[in-house]
Amino acid sequence: MNNQKIKNIIESLSNIKSNEFFKKICIALGNAVNADYVFIATLDDRRTTATSLAATHKGLIIDGFSYALKNTPCSKVANESLCTHSENVQQLYPDDKLLVDMGVEGYVGVPLKTCEGRVDAILVALFDNTISHIDEVETLFLLFSGLIEKELHKVASSKKIEFYKYIVEKSHDAIIVCDQNQFVTYVNPSFTRITGYSQSDLQGKTPKILSSDKQSEAFYQTMWANINENGHWQGQIWNKRKNGSEYLEWLSITSIFDEHSELTNYIAFFSNITEHYEAKEKIKYQDSYDALTKTANKNKLFQFIEKSISENHSPHKITITAALLVIDLDLFQKINGLYGYVFGDKVLIHVANTLQSLIRNNDIVSRTSGDNFALFANNIKDRESIVLIIDKITNAFIQPILIDGITIKITLSIGIACYSENATDAHGLFEKAEQAMFFSKDNGRNSYEFYTQQLSDEAKKEEELKKALELAIENNEFSLVYQPIVSLKEKSVSKFEALVRWDNNGSCRSPAEFIPAAEKFGLIKAIGDFVLNQACKELKILKKKGFTDIVFNINRSIYEFPERAKENKWIDTIQEHGLNPRDICFELTESVLAPENDNYIALLNKLQLAGCTIALDDFGTGYSSLSYLRRFPINVLKIDRSFILDMTKEKNGEVLVSAIISMAKALQVNVVAEGVELKNEVDILTRLNCDFIQGYYFSKPLKPEFISQYLIDFKL
Ligand code: C2E
Ligand code: CA
Ligand code: CA
Repeated sequence: MNNQKIKNIIESLSNIKSNEFFKKICIALGNAVNADYVFIATLDDRRTTATSLAATHKGLIIDGFSYALKNTPCSKVANESLCTHSENVQQLYPDDKLLVDMGVEGYVGVPLKTCEGRVDAILVALFDNTISHIDEVETLFLLFSGLIEKELHKVASSKKIEFYKYIVEKSHDAIIVCDQNQFVTYVNPSFTRITGYSQSDLQGKTPKILSSDKQSEAFYQTMWANINENGHWQGQIWNKRKNGSEYLEWLSITSIFDEHSELTNYIAFFSNITEHYEAKEKIKYQDSYDALTKTANKNKLFQFIEKSISENHSPHKITITAALLVIDLDLFQKINGLYGYVFGDKVLIHVANTLQSLIRNNDIVSRTSGDNFALFANNIKDRESIVLIIDKITNAFIQPILIDGITIKITLSIGIACYSENATDAHGLFEKAEQAMFFSKDNGRNSYEFYTQQLSDEAKKEEELKKALELAIENNEFSLVYQPIVSLKEKSVSKFEALVRWDNNGSCRSPAEFIPAAEKFGLIKAIGDFVLNQACKELKILKKKGFTDIVFNINRSIYEFPERAKENKWIDTIQEHGLNPRDICFELTESVLAPENDNYIALLNKLQLAGCTIALDDFGTGYSSLSYLRRFPINVLKIDRSFILDMTKEKNGEVLVSAIISMAKALQVNVVAEGVELKNEVDILTRLNCDFIQGYYFSKPLKPEFISQYLIDFKL
């Protein structure tokens, strides 16, 4: 080996920059071994292509080039082996066009490896003529390949560092590096974006500057204990920005050690998860709270009750220790119907806020559904303490409230279930309080009711009746009977009242029993439709037989009234049967006259305008106020049977009936006396100038097939 050659090469390489190194060594090696071409080429990952890093031709730098490795001697080199051919290299690799074009004869190729030992570059010398000193070339190339590799490693690692730096700078997560004393040495742009602090802001500072008051001292102590012990900690933490606002981050801190296991740095990564947290909190909130009234929803109420029970109450205590009140707004549908849903919503908010203002610290108010609220009270001693709460509630709603210029009076129906007397879990308490609430509704609303077993039995019975009624409607188990109404003046029968009958498995059930139930369960419309249709059908038959002047009275429950007069189909039904509205009189009870039912006036007017007559049923048992009578268009007044009974039994009985008749006459309203059973009663009523009489004295209600015979035989 020629030492001078090596010396020359090394000399030419001293004091040069990395980017010049590869060119210089190619020139120096080319000169030393008299090669025509020398180049260093890097390989792509799949080793299909080589790209020159530096290339020389006869001592001069030439342009860079790339070529495919397939079928070339270089592909051997790429596969980790040294490849030398002193001559005939073209013949050996006939498909290597480059070799042929360049007229190459001799070839020396050395693989260049990464630190990990993978070939990622090659050093190649090409000779136009046979290489006479192939051993020397080989030795020299192998010798310098180490130097070239080292330089390649340097380039690669500085590229890698550049790349990592790029990643750190571009990372969406914030990165902060501190020295072993926790002083900040580096922060990336995301850190500045999230916290507002730049690197210079943190000069000589520790990350404590970010601390918020949301974590306790103990929290930080545990965190540092973890870092010191395991070299790592991660978790959620609230920190403070430069502008003082707080944010939640997911933080990961790692200790960095040098090769002697000495702590040198801490590096922390974090991402801002405030939005994520807020979204989660919102979902959690929606899961637990009612969006409209901001009170707990049923879910939350139940959780609250269960928690209270497990923490504060024992099922073994005999005394009452807690109570659940189910509170339902009376006639809320009406409020919605009259003033709209926006108004209705405001009413609900008002109720929620009022209830909320009444409860104690460890009690809860919940809107469980629509117009249904619940209040769970702890620290209850006895029923009296529950009544005190109810008094507070009732007092809070005693005055009418003003919303959007509208004054309304709110009344509530309240049902109460006591712990542990009535139930020992949330579900049971709610079910029972709700049942009690329904009973307080039935008892005319605006009242409260404690749950009792008796209530529950009644509820069960009701449920059975409901099912039976639903079946009855489906199977058409209803029929009609007709009771004559006799005109004293005409001495004839001019009207019949249609009365519904239910054949319940062979036994006839009284409408007095099932009509109120049907009203309650929302089944009255179906029954009412049947009654009107059937009565029209049977009246039509009667008319065809020649009884053309007969009027049928049809009972209508207040629950059959549509919200809007326009939606009423009663006249359509009458006309569909080929009858005139004059042939039908609708009997309504006094509840229709209640002040909140002013909107029914339009419907009654419409019916009257079409020709129907309106009778006020059971007069004297409800809202018998003269002023109501004047506002509503009434044609007939039916004096309730109780007055007729009192007429002969009570001292002032007759006076009362007489007064009613006179009053009716003054209002130009006809009078029917109901439930007349005795001759004596007929005589008095005749004397008092009553217009019509209805009752067993003349006839019990008749099946339709007996009406015409009754009419033929009738004689007063
Ligand atoms: P109401 O409208 O007052 O009907 C009169 C009730 O008194 C009928 O009882 C009738 O049979 C009975 N009654 C008639 N004359 C006498 C009498 O001299 N003495 C006695 N003690 N009772 C007499 P009913 O048929 O049991 O009907 C009871 C109630 O059921 C009716 O009272 C009415 O409010 C309701 N109702 C009956 N049919 C219908 C209907 O089709 N629709 C609606 N909504 N309610 C109906
Ligand atoms: Ca009636
Ligand atoms: Ca009646």
